[in-house]
Amino acid sequence: MVKQIVRDPMFLQLKSEPATEDDRQVVQDLIDTLNANRDRCVGMAANMIGVRKQIIVVAMGPFSVPMINPVITKKTGKYETEESCLSLEGVRPCTRYKEIEVDYLDQNFEKKHGKYTDFTAQIIQHEIQHFSGELI
Ligand SMILES: [Zn+2]
Repeated sequence: MVKQIVRDPMFLQLKSEPATEDDRQVVQDLIDTLNANRDRCVGMAANMIGVRKQIIVVAMGPFSVPMINPVITKKTGKYETEESCLSLEGVRPCTRYKEIEVDYLDQNFEKKHGKYTDFTAQIIQHEIQHFSGELI
């Protein structure tokens, strides 16, 4: 189900908790909501639809790939850049890494490990940062 995008900074600054199999509907809602906003958004964290769980969805080509409880296990190639966010006004400076490795659960709650580079890696880093309650 497509959900409304949360823009309340007080809510977005709250930390997110690990997701469980009870959150399967949240995963689907996040995919549906990203798909409804693909013209202006390349990734989304669950707190952007009002759920403080560690779930993100990332645009990879035509696909919207969900990652549950993602953790960055390796990062190389530090650089400085600027990003915007569908939940916030304007553009903010941030530090990112060109290549990352991520442990996560897929939509079936199966353990996965992936390596990502460049723009895809940047999106994943941005969305995971939402778990900490930082406004980026
Ligand atoms: Zn964001």
